[in-house]
Amino acid sequence: MLVVMKMSNAFYPWRKAFSGLFFPYRNCLCCGKVSVDAPLCTDCRSRWQDLRSCRYCATFVSSTEAVEYRCQNCRGVSLPFAMARAALPYEGFLRERLLAFKYYGRTGLRWPFAALLLETFQQFYDGLQFDAIVPMPLAAGRYQERGYNQVELLTELLAAELDLPHRPQLLRRVRETRPLAELNRGEREQELAGAFQGAAANGMRLLLVDDIYTTGMTMRGAAQALRNSGAREIYALSVAASRDF
Ligand SMILES: [Zn+2]
Ligand SMILES: [Zn+2]
Repeated sequence: MLVVMKMSNAFYPWRKAFSGLFFPYRNCLCCGKVSVDAPLCTDCRSRWQDLRSCRYCATFVSSTEAVEYRCQNCRGVSLPFAMARAALPYEGFLRERLLAFKYYGRTGLRWPFAALLLETFQQFYDGLQFDAIVPMPLAAGRYQERGYNQVELLTELLAAELDLPHRPQLLRRVRETRPLAELNRGEREQELAGAFQGAAANGMRLLLVDDIYTTGMTMRGAAQALRNSGAREIYALSVAASRDF
């Protein structure tokens, strides 16, 4: 059954982009209230529009200063990506939905999450030319266990909508990492350094996508591997990120 869409595309820009696709989701990703075929309800949408994030990493910040300078999360750290952006803070109902999507087979959530990513892309990266989209990979064992890579479900849709090449094969996760929360900063760097391997990406500008950006370590490990294999520039995009307040 195809949902008939009567409201204007100008009010819901994602709808225009996804107009050819079946969009069955009917609840706001952020609060769970009914929000007929829009990823966010109007309350959460206005909250979303007021959020500020660090200019360089995806962290949501309280001070306006961090929008111009680096936030406490990335200050003094060398970043292998030009910029990182996320749609929303990783908390509450959105966090539950992301975990259901990632671990409990709720793959239908790819539609609203992809719609949210598309809007975030348009807000921050519109006008930039990308050579390809690359999803954050899972290690082979983890992929077999889960049966799908939730990030790849999102990047497939995003690449189709943005009419960009989808290139999961550019980045491999050669081994799974220990839970990073248990490690200190030095140990994490070590742990991630050898976890990824890039394929030839000479001179490419890439959009690297993940579902969750917390410490930024995973994104940095992956982006560094792509830079090592020749990528010219990396822009990172994720559904959720931590906040500094
Ligand atoms: Zn809401
Ligand atoms: Zn930052």
